[in-house]
Amino acid sequence: MKKIEHLGIAVKSLEASNALFEKLLGVGPYKEEEVASEGVRTAFFKKGPNKIELLESTTEDGPIARFLAKKGEGIHHVAFEVSDIEAEMARLKAQGFVLLNEAPKRGADNKLVAFVHPKTANGILVELCQEVPSNDHGGQPLR
Ligand code: ZN
Repeated sequence: MKKIEHLGIAVKSLEASNALFEKLLGVGPYKEEEVASEGVRTAFFKKGPNKIELLESTTEDGPIARFLAKKGEGIHHVAFEVSDIEAEMARLKAQGFVLLNEAPKRGADNKLVAFVHPKTANGILVELCQEVPSNDHGGQPLR
């Protein structure tokens, strides 16, 4: 674990929340990206060294839609940057954490990601993310 890479916030409307966070932070999103496999549209804000990811559901029953139905808008996950995601997944698994992914998958913002189940992490959905090496231009999940 190197540092907190970003906070993920579930929102009902990316358009409304982009405007809200622009007012809050004084800067607009630097990137918007749809991750079809996750059923989300995301927007990323950067302020100083810190990043915030807003997530809007693009499906009726995707993970963000279910989160909003259960808990409403708010912090959805805490993402930690790691240098070797597979090693970190193995380390956490050995420590008793339940992982939601068997293998890293392609997330937003040029990252490989994997999630730790909140039931094993004090109610926090933990995202591990590793920057995809710049020589890798594929859009397919690894393996
Ligand atoms: Zn995230």
